[in-house]
Amino acid sequence: MLKDTFNRVHDYLRISLTDSCNFRCQYCMPEENIQCMPSSKLMSSQEIDHLSSVFVSLGVKKIRLTGGEPLVRKEFAEIAQRLAKYPVKLTLTTNGVLADKFLPVFKDTGIKSVNVSLDTLKPDVFYAMTRRNQFNKVWQNIMLLIEQGFHVKINVVAMEGVVENEILDFVALTQDLPVHVRFIEFMPFEGNRWVSNKVVTATQMLKLVRESYQIQKLSDDINDTAKKYVVPGHKGTFAFITTMSEHFCGTCNRLRLTADGKIKNCLFGKEEIDLLSVLRNGGDVEPFIFKSVQRKYAVMGGQFEHGYKQTTATELENRSMIRIGG
Ligand code: SAM
Ligand code: SF4
Repeated sequence: MLKDTFNRVHDYLRISLTDSCNFRCQYCMPEENIQCMPSSKLMSSQEIDHLSSVFVSLGVKKIRLTGGEPLVRKEFAEIAQRLAKYPVKLTLTTNGVLADKFLPVFKDTGIKSVNVSLDTLKPDVFYAMTRRNQFNKVWQNIMLLIEQGFHVKINVVAMEGVVENEILDFVALTQDLPVHVRFIEFMPFEGNRWVSNKVVTATQMLKLVRESYQIQKLSDDINDTAKKYVVPGHKGTFAFITTMSEHFCGTCNRLRLTADGKIKNCLFGKEEIDLLSVLRNGGDVEPFIFKSVQRKYAVMGGQFEHGYKQTTATELENRSMIRIGG
């Protein structure tokens, strides 16, 4: 069991399959110097399989494939097929643009729930945010996933100047569609020009929603990062991921593996331990996994000591989101 010094049991692993992406979201990657890792540095399908088997033997029960964009990894199908043999809930976070091509793979490998990122319902704003003209394709794929019976969550990064104008439209979507919209507070990563006053908090968003809807709080599971709500009578739900304004570190059960095989015990943690090199040198990765878990900080990777409002992006040390794996 992967228990840390604060008695938190870690049974959820997020594996980044690549640091490359077919989109260019401004909040995720630096605008310049985008250099993807050479493929020799990426974990191979076999190495992902091997490391996953160790994590599963240590109690991991859920694996999320992410990136970069996991569906641009050319071995995606092979990786998902290899992981399907483990007794885990296998799931995926994607920008959605290639989802239609992979539906048979999702079905084959027991992926039942897919998180699709979509920050706006306006094609022109979508282009400005992602630098790609793919709103219609992503939207069609969300509809397709719903029709095909997948549990679909829509991840919306709450960007100031955008979310205020669109939050009611997103909540309106839940009336007839069984989708679960999650508004994520904007987080700081290397090169994403985060400033604390650009964070639109859940409290601010809830105020906007309450001006138009009577809403009801739903109960959340113990390890949930999202605080869920419903408009009574609506088929879908909406939620807030309050990483900045109200962290949920006390019940954190997550570990991350970067595409180059480094374990990160926290999204904001500075420390990484290179499991892939240990594996490639014929060593045993297990003690290094325990070491990483033991070194996990209580809150926010030991950063943001004075709260997010007093924090500037330059004080923080971290990779960009695209290179960590969200
Ligand atoms: N490419 C996939 C996608 O976009 O869903 C998976 C990787 S992406 C890094 C994972 C999630 O992180 C996405 O939902 C994305 O919106 C979110 N994300 C990226 N940068 C963020 C930031 N600065 N603050 C909050 N969420 C962010
Ligand atoms: Fe790519 Fe996802 Fe990052 Fe956007 S959020 S640049 S789609 S990895």
